[in-house]
Amino acid sequence: MTAQLIDGKLIAQQVRDSVAAEVTKRTAAGKPKPVLATVLVGDRVDSATYVSAKGKACQELGMGSVNHHLPADINQADLEKVISELNADVEVSGILVQLPLPSHLNEERVLQLISIEKDVDGFSPINIGRLAQKGREPLFVPCTPFGCIYLLEQAGVKIEGANAVVLGRSNIVGMPAALLLIGKNATVTVCHSRTKDLPAVIRQADILIAAIGRTEMVRGDWIKPGAAVIDVGINSKPDASKKSGYRLVGDVNFDEAREVAGFITPVPGGVGPMTIAMLMKNTLRAAQIQQGE
Ligand code: NDP
Repeated sequence: MTAQLIDGKLIAQQVRDSVAAEVTKRTAAGKPKPVLATVLVGDRVDSATYVSAKGKACQELGMGSVNHHLPADINQADLEKVISELNADVEVSGILVQLPLPSHLNEERVLQLISIEKDVDGFSPINIGRLAQKGREPLFVPCTPFGCIYLLEQAGVKIEGANAVVLGRSNIVGMPAALLLIGKNATVTVCHSRTKDLPAVIRQADILIAAIGRTEMVRGDWIKPGAAVIDVGINSKPDASKKSGYRLVGDVNFDEAREVAGFITPVPGGVGPMTIAMLMKNTLRAAQIQQGE
């Protein structure tokens, strides 16, 4: 059996096209364009790359973006002042603080300060709290897990009643992914570094979301035949045939898993492109909320 490939690049492009069409419609109707404010603290190269990709996506979709690049040694009070100003700025639809912050800063307090109506990353405790409670709706869902669920739905995978295993329990991927799956009536098991006999647990999964950051750790014989496998991991693997000397692979051994699974996302080109697409969707939603729509 060869799994059906879930093309994240294509699905992300469809999301982006629909956001761009809606933005065009809004601006033609005289409404302000959605604006994403990003906050980048320090000089981490990876963080700067992510922030610039988000700004570029805004531009491509007809939205505005403004980046606040702050020094690595900024103090908590000054950073919080920037967030408060962005909260109060009527021209800003969404606020995204690029994580991780330098270790002297209190990330929790910063995320807590972001106005819930502008929390397009979905990490504020209120949005996460609502996600965790039955019958409550968050205003925004964290982008990567939102993208994972969207991929499953677009592929036609039945979530309700499925046994789902989420591998990883981070605040930004694993935990919100598990909460989303519970909300969609899957029976969810969350695994982490202390889980016993991981292969046996994963073999029960009709749906597997892998987000651990361990190169190709999940082997083909851990996968239940026909399962849907969403691989969030992004790891570099040495590859002498590449100019860079490495290539990107996921947390799942793709070549093995595709022979067993029913559906699978590739790395790259699976979950990766969905994260920014869902951020764009959330930023448009923020603009709509601020207009009372
Ligand atoms: P974290 O490091 O924050 O969390 C990793 C999780 O995996 C933890 O819960 C940890 O367990 C668990 N874990 C680590 N090693 C093992 C192991 N050997 N067995 C079982 N569980 C293990 O990672 P993130 O959630 O931030 O990211 C996970 C991966 O997803 C990374 O590769 C990252 O690059 C990628 N990513 C991709 C994105 C995208 O857009 N495609 C966006 C965000 C992340 P414990 O809690 O016990 O420590």
